Amino acid sequence: MKLLEGKTALIFGIANDHSIAWGIAQAMHEHGARLAFSYASQILERRVRPLAEKVNAVFIELCDVSQDEDIAAMFARAADELGTIDILVHSIAFANREELTSPFYETSREGFRIAMDISVYSLVALARAALPLMTKGGSILTLSYYGGQKVMPNYNVMGIAKAALETATRYLAADLGPHDIRVNAISAGPIRTLSSAGISGFKRMYRQFAAITPLQRNITINDIGGAAVWLTSDLARAVTGEVLFVDAGFNILGFPALREQIQL
Ligand code: NAD
Repeated sequence: MKLLEGKTALIFGIANDHSIAWGIAQAMHEHGARLAFSYASQILERRVRPLAEKVNAVFIELCDVSQDEDIAAMFARAADELGTIDILVHSIAFANREELTSPFYETSREGFRIAMDISVYSLVALARAALPLMTKGGSILTLSYYGGQKVMPNYNVMGIAKAALETATRYLAADLGPHDIRVNAISAGPIRTLSSAGISGFKRMYRQFAAITPLQRNITINDIGGAAVWLTSDLARAVTGEVLFVDAGFNILGFPALREQIQL
């Protein structure tokens, strides 16, 4: 059974075939959605275009979400070529590398501003731009991480950004509910991507993750794709303002089980 037949999704955040947004795009394609992609910079185009072709995306368009003109151009094209949209996927985050390697108290004013602008404000800006195209209601999905709720080594300013993102999800859900637009976040367990490579110590944490979690496994972009399909489908029609953990159960633990195989 295809859960997204007849729906159109605009997807932000594919950089390459390791991106969480690519896992989401593949799953949405398998479930019958019509897709269009945006990408952040010219140098990414040669990676994103072949992926777009694989899932018959209607178009791909450059959109740096820190630029209001890019957002306006992106949605003008979406209005022209797609008419209306049902799903918006926001799978975008950015912080300067130095903010993810030094102690949190050394976060610079500019580094803080950039992380909040690209990782949080962009959700608000994209939701506002999408509203006139979501005439039949819709579903907006963003990606969070547990570092927004608990302290994670070196996650630093991105933790603050994810806390703000989760709160923005709730405020947007309240604003847009009367338009029958749902807004939710998936809090993904650690996945090796371009973004996570910038977090100091990530690889070590990733390697220990499967041994600690209740499901004894790591998370894949396909796991996130499956949850994203459900959350943006009509099956989840009464779910809004939520943060859904897709992390093999890591977040329910107060302390990791001391199994013999865990080398901490
Ligand atoms: P990724 O690097 O593949 O994706 C991040 C995307 O953000 C890229 O496509 C990048 O081009 C885009 N981006 C950055 N600055 C931008 C800008 N100015 N304009 C437009 N796009 C911009 O990495 P990912 O891990 O797939 O990250 C996607 C989302 O998932 C992020 O919000 C990330 O915080 C979140 N997340 C990742 C993990 C993980 O372990 N990888 C875990 C939980 C949540």
